[in-house]
Amino acid sequence: MLIVPEREIEALMTREAAFDAVEKVFAAMAAGDAYNFPVVREAIGHEDALYGFKGGFDQAGLTLGLKAGGYWPNNLERRGIINHQSTVFLFDPDTGKASAMVGGNLLTALRTAAASSVSIKHLARKDAKVMGMVGAGHQATFQLRAALEQRDFEKVIGWNYHPEMLPNIEKVAAEAGVPFEAVDSPGMAEADVIISITSAFAPSLMADHVSPGTHIACMGTDTKGKQEVEAELLVRADVFTDEVAQSISIGEAQHAVAAGLIKEADVAQLGAVINGTHPGRTSADQITLFDGTGVGLQDLAVAAAVVDLAVEKGIAIEVDF
Ligand code: NAD
Repeated sequence: MLIVPEREIEALMTREAAFDAVEKVFAAMAAGDAYNFPVVREAIGHEDALYGFKGGFDQAGLTLGLKAGGYWPNNLERRGIINHQSTVFLFDPDTGKASAMVGGNLLTALRTAAASSVSIKHLARKDAKVMGMVGAGHQATFQLRAALEQRDFEKVIGWNYHPEMLPNIEKVAAEAGVPFEAVDSPGMAEADVIISITSAFAPSLMADHVSPGTHIACMGTDTKGKQEVEAELLVRADVFTDEVAQSISIGEAQHAVAAGLIKEADVAQLGAVINGTHPGRTSADQITLFDGTGVGLQDLAVAAAVVDLAVEKGIAIEVDF
């Protein structure tokens, strides 16, 4: 079995490799070649932790395994380590033997940023100039960094519930040489592409804050009850997702579906657009919305890519197991 520790991931994994892995696995999911197992997520009654598993099998890429981990809210304060902790385990699909154990913390941020980037590549207008950010936390910096590579953006605008966090994303824009402007939430109407990545349980982006022709990637809602955008926006938009079952149960679409505003059949897989079996954006004034809920196959895809890179560079630790 090969081990790739968390400390090695930063030097090994590139945004390009994460993008390619996620784009391929979304395509495989839509083609019926890859599927996710039901998600397990439990409040374990210890340290206020949420712990669970996300797994799947990609028959096209021959990737089988799971990501185990979750959220330990006291880690940073009590132990000086980050609150989100995860590890990916890969198995040989021919034998069931464990083949790799890979640090999953940084990979989670990279694969989540890759998902919104894949959606921007396939659904945003080619002439998009203004990038809008709702959210300025840990994930937001990865999201913005990756998104700026997808179009020739001339400006970043940002709104955050906690305005004191905005410098986090302003710094990323500055590093990419793109001017940044803080706006109020209706100010998002200027954006051609919007990413929302917050842990909100009530919408802050309203349907009237989004202009015709915009592509929006809703990336923060990954649990029942969370919500970032007004449900009416999903009526006005053409809705795409990584996985429909997650989108309507734990993703942003859960609210519009529960309110009877849209149906399951109104939510399409982004992978179908990648495969060319769904037309995706068909007009310049259409609003497209990607509901990125985060699937186990994304984790497996980037972990498999990182194992290959680690083997190539002689960094993978081999253990007799
Ligand atoms: P973080 O704690 O670093 O940042 C939280 C963000 O949410 C900040 O911008 C904060 O200002 C904002 N926020 C907090 N309370 C809010 C409120 N009441 N209203 C509006 N905004 C509020 O967290 P993070 O690591 O950046 O994660 C952000 C979200 O992304 C979380 O909900 C997390 O579960 C989710 N996430 C999703 C995926 C996926 O695959 N879709 C992957 C990783 C994380």
